[in-house]
Amino acid sequence: MNFDLTPEQDQLRDAVRALGRKYGHDYFVAKAKAGEHTTELWSEAGRLGYLGVNIPTEYGGGGGGITELALVCEELAAAGCPLLLLVVSPAIAATVINKHGTDEQRKRHLPGLADGTQKIVFAITEPEAGSNFHRLGTVARRDGDDWLLSGRKCYISGVDEAQYVLVVARTEDESTGKLKPALFIVPTDAPGLTRSKLDMEILSPENQFLLYLDDVRLPADALVGESLDAGLPALFAGLNPERITVAAMGAGTGRYAIERASEYTATRKVWGGRSIGSHQGVAHPLAHAAVQVELARLMIHKAATLYDAGRDLEAGISGNMAKYAAGEAAALAVDTAVQALGGAGMTTEYGVATLLGAVRAGRIAPVSREMILNFVAQHVLGQDKSY
Ligand SMILES: Cc1cc2nc3c(=O)[nH]c(=O)nc-3n(C[C@H](O)[C@H](O)[C@H](O)COP(=O)(O)OP(=O)(O)OC[C@H]3O[C@@H](n4cnc5c(N)ncnc54)[C@H](O)[C@@H]3O)c2cc1C
Repeated sequence: MNFDLTPEQDQLRDAVRALGRKYGHDYFVAKAKAGEHTTELWSEAGRLGYLGVNIPTEYGGGGGGITELALVCEELAAAGCPLLLLVVSPAIAATVINKHGTDEQRKRHLPGLADGTQKIVFAITEPEAGSNFHRLGTVARRDGDDWLLSGRKCYISGVDEAQYVLVVARTEDESTGKLKPALFIVPTDAPGLTRSKLDMEILSPENQFLLYLDDVRLPADALVGESLDAGLPALFAGLNPERITVAAMGAGTGRYAIERASEYTATRKVWGGRSIGSHQGVAHPLAHAAVQVELARLMIHKAATLYDAGRDLEAGISGNMAKYAAGEAAALAVDTAVQALGGAGMTTEYGVATLLGAVRAGRIAPVSREMILNFVAQHVLGQDKSY
């Protein structure tokens, strides 16, 4: 058992931390409040190779794995810049295309994903289907060599700043009459694809959208993979990287909040010469949150290590547990930090309440805590499915 990072991973972590601190939480908040994106940070991270750490070197990436990408997610978040699109573009889209795309799709998309000039967001959630992906209603129909896509998607992050959206649809399997998933790389400016921005109570430079697909015509090579058989494995390929990187972002956010609160409570004095942090009623909740964040980090490390070793089933269990643990720990850490700062905790200046919406959403998306508990109950505890 080894808990140490390799020297290269250590270097990566330090370099990403330095980049994150150069921008910092004030930059993140200012962009979000102005309704702008963190373009400068994203572009610089891309130029420096941090967005493509998990992409093979032949496509301009770093040749690492999800362990490296999780480090990037965690360190940027720990500097107060949790970039949600890291979870969809390099983690989900790049993994799906690298593992299940055609050669042509790899060449077309991976270099841009690696240097950050291309963003591909991910659309699976639908208003009617919700957590039950078996009920997906977005349908792909053949029309000659083309495909026609129709349906609706909701809460899709980053559509306004991406060139493509990876859409999960379903198509009728003519031989059996069963419905199978099929993934399509859809240009965000494709005729028939429209969007409307959702008003979300999350202070974030990234937006969520409702997407309407009205007979969106796509060429045959928009389908991920050589045939429809690629659909199911391609969909599953994105899940572990998504859970692990979103967990890393949560752990980083938790670290950030605890650090901000600890600095404050160590120096703030309201009772004579003692810091408020000397009172256990203030220090213990912060220490408790720090323990929860560190436990989540251990599980993230385990899940990423298993995933990069190709042990997908075990990584699935650890990745779900890591996502659950990090989602809870991040929400606890931010809430505890707000409390420890008193009134200052609710100001924009001290930069912790600014994360309340994001960490609350982290207990719902991209997979809710309840659906993870269902997964653990069934796959770890051997319980029957209740739904
Ligand atoms: C900020 C944000 C960004 C997002 N970005 C994206 C994105 O980029 N792409 C994308 O495709 N989606 C995205 N989503 C959607 C997200 O993945 C879903 O919101 C999430 O999967 C839950 O689905 P739902 O909202 O339809 O909830 P529902 O399925 O309606 O569930 C509502 C509640 O019931 C619970 N529940 C449902 N079924 C069960 C059950 N069987 N047992 C126990 N509890 C159950 C759920 O856990 C939840 O608490 C985003 C969401 C948010 C908030």
